[in-house]
Amino acid sequence: MAVTFRDYYEILGVNRDADEKKIKAAYRKLARKWHPDLHSGKDKDKAEEKFKEINEAYEVLSDSEKRAKYDRLGSNWRNGDQFDPGDMGSSYYYSSDFNPQDFQGFSDFFASVFGGSPGGKRATSFYEGPMRGQDIESEIEITLEEAYHGGSKSLRLSAGSVCPQCSGRGITQRSICSRCGGTGSIPSTRTVEVKIPPGVIEGSTIRLKGQGGEGTGDGPRGDLYLKVHLLPHPVFTVKGRDIETEINLRPDQAVLGDKVTVPTLERSVNLTIPPGTFSGRRLRLKDKGLPARDGSHGDQYVKININIPANISEDEKELYRKIREIYEK
Ligand SMILES: [Zn+2]
Repeated sequence: MAVTFRDYYEILGVNRDADEKKIKAAYRKLARKWHPDLHSGKDKDKAEEKFKEINEAYEVLSDSEKRAKYDRLGSNWRNGDQFDPGDMGSSYYYSSDFNPQDFQGFSDFFASVFGGSPGGKRATSFYEGPMRGQDIESEIEITLEEAYHGGSKSLRLSAGSVCPQCSGRGITQRSICSRCGGTGSIPSTRTVEVKIPPGVIEGSTIRLKGQGGEGTGDGPRGDLYLKVHLLPHPVFTVKGRDIETEINLRPDQAVLGDKVTVPTLERSVNLTIPPGTFSGRRLRLKDKGLPARDGSHGDQYVKININIPANISEDEKELYRKIREIYEK
C-alpha cells in the first residue's frame, strides 16, 4: 500500500539540520498563523488542514527518536511523492499497538511510519497540551571562597513566564492574546536559590533541575544552566584548580632561609624558605588549591618577592658594607 510522503522539514520550513530550538520556533510561529480559531469561512478548512500538518511535522521532528526514524527514510522523497512503507521493512508497518482511532489528526503516512499512538489525545489537541518549559542559560559570579567551600546564594533572574491570560498559547478566543502579543510569555523576574557545590571553577556549569522556563499546560519547567565566573580575589590568583599568592621576603630571609606564615584558603600555614631562595621562585604547597569532584585538590604556589629596603639604619648600612668588603676581597 502506497501512501503520500510528507516532508516534515518542508512543512515547518526548516533545514534538515535544524536544531530543537529552531524547530520549536518555526512550529510556534506556524501554529499561531494557522490556528483554526483565527480563521473563518472557507479559510477555516484550509487552516485546519495546515494546522494538522504542522502539528504532525512537529510531533515527529521534536521527538529525537521519531526524527531519527524519519530521517532514515532518506531525503530523496519529495513532499507528495507516492511512498511505499514496505521499503522500510515490515517492522515499521502498522505495529501491533496501532489503533486508527488515535490518528484522527494525523496522516496515513505518519501512521505507516510510526505505527502506534503518538500519545492519545495529543494527536488531535497537541498544541494545547502540556509542553516542557525551555532550558535557560545564565551566569553566576562567585567568590573564590565559595568555589572552595561550596555554599548557596540567591540569584535574581529575568526570564519570561507563561502568560496568564492565554496560558502560553498566544491566542485567546479568536484573536491574538492582548497581554503577550501572541508570544505566550510575559517578562518577569524571580529569585532562585543556587547551591554551589565545592569544586566549581571558572567556566563550570551548575545545573538546576526544574528552574528553567515554565511549561505550558501541565508541562514541567525546563532546567537552568548557570555558567560560573570567579570574582577576582585580593590575595589569590587562580589557574584552573591551582591558586597562587605572593610573599615578600627580606634579603637576609632569602639568603639564610627562614620559616614564614602564608595564607591559604583554609587557614594560615608555616612555609619553610630554603636558604638561597631567589626572587621569582615559586614554592609549592601541595593540595592547598581548589577541590575537584573526585576529592583531589589543586596546589597553591607561593611566589617569592625579595624586598630591598629603601631606608635603613646606620647599623644596617655598616653590616652591608662589611658584606661588600667580603665580596671585594
Ligand atoms: Zn498571552
